[in-house]
Amino acid sequence: MSYLVLARKWRPKAFSEVVGQQHVLRALINGLDQDRLHHAFLFSGTRGVGKTTLARILAKSLNCEQGVSSQPCGECQSCTEVDEGRFVDLIEVDAASRTKVDDTRELLDNVQYAPSRGRYKVYLIDEVHMLSTSSFNALLKTLEEPPPHVKFLFATTDPQKLPVTILSRCLQFNLRRIELTQISDHLASILSKEKIEFEANALKAIARAADGSMRDALSLLDQAISFGSGAVTINDVSTMLGSIEQPQLLQIVTALVNQDGQMLLEQSHDLSVQGRDFNTVLDALLSLLQRLATIQLVPDIDLTDEDEPQTLIELCNSVDAETVQLMYQIALHGKRDLPYAADPKSGFEMTLLRMLSFQPKQVPKTIHTATTLPKKPINKLETQKIEPVGKRVEQAKQEVITPQAPIEEIIPDAKPEPAYQVRESAPEQAPQTHQASASDMLTAENWTSTITQLKLAAMSRQFANNAAFVKLEANRLTLSIAPEHVSLASDKNKEKLSTELTKLLGVTLQILIEETGSESNNVSPTLATQQAEEKTAKHEQAKNSIHNDSAVISLTEAFNGRIIESTIKPID
Ligand SMILES: [Zn+2]
Repeated sequence: MSYLVLARKWRPKAFSEVVGQQHVLRALINGLDQDRLHHAFLFSGTRGVGKTTLARILAKSLNCEQGVSSQPCGECQSCTEVDEGRFVDLIEVDAASRTKVDDTRELLDNVQYAPSRGRYKVYLIDEVHMLSTSSFNALLKTLEEPPPHVKFLFATTDPQKLPVTILSRCLQFNLRRIELTQISDHLASILSKEKIEFEANALKAIARAADGSMRDALSLLDQAISFGSGAVTINDVSTMLGSIEQPQLLQIVTALVNQDGQMLLEQSHDLSVQGRDFNTVLDALLSLLQRLATIQLVPDIDLTDEDEPQTLIELCNSVDAETVQLMYQIALHGKRDLPYAADPKSGFEMTLLRMLSFQPKQVPKTIHTATTLPKKPINKLETQKIEPVGKRVEQAKQEVITPQAPIEEIIPDAKPEPAYQVRESAPEQAPQTHQASASDMLTAENWTSTITQLKLAAMSRQFANNAAFVKLEANRLTLSIAPEHVSLASDKNKEKLSTELTKLLGVTLQILIEETGSESNNVSPTLATQQAEEKTAKHEQAKNSIHNDSAVISLTEAFNGRIIESTIKPID
């Protein structure tokens, strides 16, 4: 007996056997059972998701000699003929090869004739969007007044190319890609029935490669069975697909994290010897990095679909989230540039080396040390306890930028010291008992820090920030203000400031204003100038950090880049 390919042997013969597409099945089953079936259906979706299969089961359901139902008997002559693909009243047309209007006319001329064997004629027009405009017009006439014995099933990968007049006369269904687990489960059940041994991750690899198409998955499975002489193993499947096995992939990422260039080149050599397809390997690498980033940034995510190996969880601890993003980006570019490389292997190696060169130098700790760190080893359930990634990135950056001095020590603290003394010595008592000490409480030294504590609105805040302390004598506070800001010293603003100072110090102060430079030159700085100076200092510091950053240096050298200083912003 000749070998029947799996896709044909295991083609679903009843709606109950169809994998996925539940939304379409329900509509068809309900329509059939209630005998209220629309006359035209449009199935959009990629190849191998079940368009023809659904059409055949529908043709069977409509024409079964036992009567119209969603559960055709499968044994009568009509049913068997449909199953064998020789039922005369199921007319399958590939529009891609019959685009001419004459073809459509010929097809539609027969529409009015009653079915020769069954109750209904079922027209399945595949790739219907390929029809010409005049063909569509011919079709439209039939669709407007369809004979009662005709059902149309249109299939397309590109529904947007269909005229609206056609679309509006069809019941539309978007057939989805079949999910990875649905495919691998289906493959597993077929192999069990075929009594063929298999490894579960081999089926997952096939399902992933099939990209939502059951037909592709089944033909890959056919190949894998003959390739593996009877059993389906991950080794054989990886070799067959030219893809990379998970442990090997993890070794590569570990080598990247550990900055082990030697190991990377060895792995690349092995892949080449094993005849792997480097484009597929880069795909696998991208997918792994995506999972790594997901676990890092969304630790609570439910990963039931994938059994993440322990090494992957450990990798999350050893590499910061930004580096993962960078590696992903480089892998993506590497994949894009692969056709331009001298050969795929060198293109792949260059991608790995680029990932190495753009990593901050001291971040890697080997996986071993990472797992023995006091931080708790994480497993899937405990991932939410990982130290926040942002914090680790922050630490890493500080180490990179200024190994000898953490940033905090250099950047002047923006927040002034709170004037605790002022508060302590100013209990809410009668002001006059403290009048003598008012000049001790408010001095040139603590002026700026004192006013930051005041609750002032926009304009009075501007006034206070731009005023410098001159002297405080006998509850008369003299402030100086630069000529360009004199307009801020309105009575209203002075009163607001006085009120707030009184609240804070417990002393009623009268505020006097003089213009800066008019009498005394010896005035303390204003908060505004102080803040401006701090800002400049911070920006200088940030600029220095960027200019001295080894990752930035290698980036600018590699791409002949230039740092636009105005875009540098200090971290608050
Ligand atoms: Zn039947």
